[in-house]
Amino acid sequence: MMIAYLDQQLRLGPGAEAEPHPAGGELDPELEAASEDFGGVARALPAAVLRPGSADDVAGAIRLASRSDRLTVAARGNGHSVAGQALAPGGIVLDMRAMARIELVFSDGGQPCADVGAGVLWGELLEWGVREHGMAPRSWTDYLGLTVGGTLSNAGISGQAFRKGPQIANVAELEVVTGEAERVVCSPSHRSDLFFAALGGLGQFGIITRARIPLYPAPRLDRGTWQTFESLVACGEFDYVEGFAFLNRGDDPASGWDSVPIGPGSVFEQDLIPQGSGPLLYCLELALNHELNDDVDKRMEELLRPLKYIKGLEFSLEVSYVEFLSRVNLAESEARANGSWDAPHPWLNILISASNIVDFDHEVLQPMLKDGIGGPMLIYPLLRSRWDPRMSVALPDSEVFYLVALLRFTRPYPVGPPVEDLISQNREILNRCRSNGYDFKLYLPHYKTQPEWAHHFGKNWARFVNLKARFDSRAILAPGQLIFSRAH
Ligand code: FAD
Repeated sequence: MMIAYLDQQLRLGPGAEAEPHPAGGELDPELEAASEDFGGVARALPAAVLRPGSADDVAGAIRLASRSDRLTVAARGNGHSVAGQALAPGGIVLDMRAMARIELVFSDGGQPCADVGAGVLWGELLEWGVREHGMAPRSWTDYLGLTVGGTLSNAGISGQAFRKGPQIANVAELEVVTGEAERVVCSPSHRSDLFFAALGGLGQFGIITRARIPLYPAPRLDRGTWQTFESLVACGEFDYVEGFAFLNRGDDPASGWDSVPIGPGSVFEQDLIPQGSGPLLYCLELALNHELNDDVDKRMEELLRPLKYIKGLEFSLEVSYVEFLSRVNLAESEARANGSWDAPHPWLNILISASNIVDFDHEVLQPMLKDGIGGPMLIYPLLRSRWDPRMSVALPDSEVFYLVALLRFTRPYPVGPPVEDLISQNREILNRCRSNGYDFKLYLPHYKTQPEWAHHFGKNWARFVNLKARFDSRAILAPGQLIFSRAH
């Protein structure tokens, strides 16, 4: 990485400002790419994009920024944030995809682990683990085109998290470069303050350069089943549990009956839906990992028995473990083809207490979202006891809470609705949650003012501020989160 050259280019020194726009010149495509994210709503041009080859490079960039009064540094994973969290207005963006090495290591106790650069995509880790070693991490995200460093800075959740915990609860060691440009190798037993701060820490305390992730024998197959319900339910001992709401209509391929994955040869018999059912139906996605010729049918039958779903509207499919985990790839190809991948994505992800979920269904989902959102409306349970309270992420207070993910995939305006309307609907949903007094937190939070952030972190805000003062005292890191302002 050419720090010296950058130094000259940015003309640094006390009081110096970075110059993102070459006067009258053409915009560098690399800068332009780093000025936006998947959300397509926020935009800010950095002064420079660097591709670090090592933790020392990362420390060098932070040291360089610290010599100016206002330069900031943002790690950019795969830029899949939706509200500008990986942007660095006039600052330095570190393209973490450059740190993509993967190595098999063993802990002192003999546990196999993947030692991965923070820019490795979860999909790359899956391929490497299963193909080369027959092993894999045990907690995933639905979509695997996300970086290890990016999801560990948030949480990383999917249908395994209710049993195995989120990705941030499945890490043995981190290498972090703090905002003081100190390189620290940390774990639950060594420098645990920084280790837990960085997990779910929204990039505020350090840049994760390497993570050590425990590996387990990869199951060969996954038997998935989908059941349709008239009301929200909770469920038990599967390897994977997710669910989603869909429209009780046939005229909307993205969100109606056709959006239920039913597998080849199956038919969604809408006549089986009871008369008088509401505008939304609920589908539970359940999966069991298994090996060839084991007793999966029997296990599945036993686990399904207590569930009260619409009989005849259950579907089952057997796929390889890798195919199952990569299932969103097909949706990505379709969204790229129809233009909704490149349209703005004002997504809303809420973690809401189980005690409020039925009320949320009556007060928010059924009345406000009965026409759908042009994309999946995921709803699935998580258990607080699987999350270490020392981690930075903010959660509702109750043991059982649900993720409600409104993953909007509308076409660009004017074919789709104006993005302002979608943002304003998000605001109304949050206002309804607040006025009804729900116990909820935003997942992948995005706020614009510090009082809002203080409210988000609640009783842990003082700890968050204290950690920031220790590990990034001049607020150089992750400015796009809009939590702290750059200090001199
Ligand atoms: P970026 O968006 O590039 O960065 C996110 C934040 O982390 C920024 O503040 C950045 O500065 C910081 N950061 C990035 N790398 C590092 C690092 N190495 N060290 C410190 N800070 C860093 N999330 C889930 O939990 N489950 C899902 O199933 C899921 N599915 C998704 C599907 C899609 C299509 C998309 C777009 C997002 C999904 N997400 C999901 C959200 C995802 O976890 C976040 O977008 C997350 O930010 C990861 O994306 P990224 O690697 O591109 O990170």
